[in-house]
Parts: sequence; C-alpha cells; structure tokens
Amino acid sequence: MEHSITNNLAEILKRIENACLKSNRNPEDVKLLMATKTVSAENIKIAFKNNQTLIGENKIHEISKKYEALKTIGHQTHFIGHLQTNKVKDLLKYNVDCIQSIDRLRLAEKLQNRLEYEDKTIDAFLQFNTSYEQSKFGMKPEDSMKFAVELQQFDRINIKGLMTIGLFSAETEKVRKCFKLLKNIQLQLLDNGIPVHELSMGMSGDLETAIEEGSTMVRVGTAIFGKREHPDSYYWNEN
Ligand SMILES: *Cc1c(COP(=O)(O)O)cnc(C)c1O
Repeated sequence: MEHSITNNLAEILKRIENACLKSNRNPEDVKLLMATKTVSAENIKIAFKNNQTLIGENKIHEISKKYEALKTIGHQTHFIGHLQTNKVKDLLKYNVDCIQSIDRLRLAEKLQNRLEYEDKTIDAFLQFNTSYEQSKFGMKPEDSMKFAVELQQFDRINIKGLMTIGLFSAETEKVRKCFKLLKNIQLQLLDNGIPVHELSMGMSGDLETAIEEGSTMVRVGTAIFGKREHPDSYYWNEN
C-alpha cells in the first residue's frame, strides 16, 4: 500500500504540473487536497510522509475516528461533505480548518451562532451546484450574488473561495462548462469585493479540465488511495 500511495501521489503531482504547463499556470498555484473518505489513518499517514498535508473529509464520524491518530502530525483538514445544521457543533470539536460546503443561509446562520458561542472563526467556501443535477448539493449559480452579500453579516465566517463538483460525464466539454460557470461566479463576486480567491474544483477524473479553467485546489481521492466500496452518492448523502 505504501508503495502505491507514494507512486500515485507522484503521478497526480505530475498531472497537475502538466495541466499547469498546458495553460501557462504556475503549479504552485494549485493545491492538492486529498479526499480521504474511507481511507484509514494509517494510509493517510503515508501520504503525510510524502509531504502532502491537506485532507478533505465528508463525514464527521470519520474525522472523529481518525482524529487521535492524526492530531500530532501537522496537517489541515477541510470539510467537503454535506453538513446538516444540527451537526455544526459536533464538527467544530475537531479543529477543522475550512468548511467547503456552505450552501444555504440557514447553515451559515447556525455556524455563525456556534462560532460566536465558542469565540472562534472559521474559513469557508461556498458550494455551488454547477451541473444542476438533483443529486448534488450546492446553491444555484443564479443566487450567488444575493447569497454572498447575505453572508457578509456573518463575521465569524471567513469566505475564502468557492467549491463545486463537476458533472460526471465522459464529455469533457460538458464538464468544462461547470468549471467555467464557477470561475464566472468567482469573477463576479471578486468584482463586488468578496474575497473568494480559492476555486476548489477538479477530482481524479477531471482535474486537468478544472486546472485549465482556473482551479486553485483539486480534490483527489481514488487516484491516490484506490477505489472506494460505494458510489460517491453514498458518501454525499445526509447520513
Ligand atoms: C470523494 C470526493 C472527491 C474525490 O473524488 P475522486 O473521484 O475519488 O477523486 C472530491 N470532492 C468531494 C466533495 C468528494 O466527496
């Protein structure tokens, strides 16, 4: 396992670099977030040994399960799953660095209240449903301006960027449309003084396209740690 994770990471870094070269970008401007759902703490440690220190988890119970084993090793954790309002308090126990899945006002409100209570702040990305698929979470792109403005009232939430999951399709141009849409939302919000400099988009299958469209953070699971037992919809649901 150690050998394959190490090799896979080298391969991913190469893919990121090649995609950057192709679009005249600096590879240092694209971060690798390792999507570690279902991955054991032991395997995550192998990735840490390879100087990768940014992980993304979808479920609070997985964060809690791996917390003790990983807490002494310097790393950052982003929450990339669907977050229920009644789980906010739970999630904040684990020193998560960023929540990438802010997709509704009610959630932001809950988060703000809890952060005030704990006297903390947190980084956050706004999640958009750029593929308009029923199965995906995220707010509608049309609501981006209104939503971002409303979020300004929540001073404990530092909005740093945007996140999306591209359409699952073998047709690259359809996938590209999703990423272009997120980029356009970013430009519009930046124009209005909302500092959404990070664009979290691109996964194992479509990271090249995402980088060509301006991604600053790709979220990669399968291509590093191997196939998961269930389809992704299983990990993205509420439970
Ligand atoms: C699992 C997951 C990823 C990584 O997907 P892979 O196809 O395994 O690279 C990225 N983003 C989110 C939100 C995920 O849940």
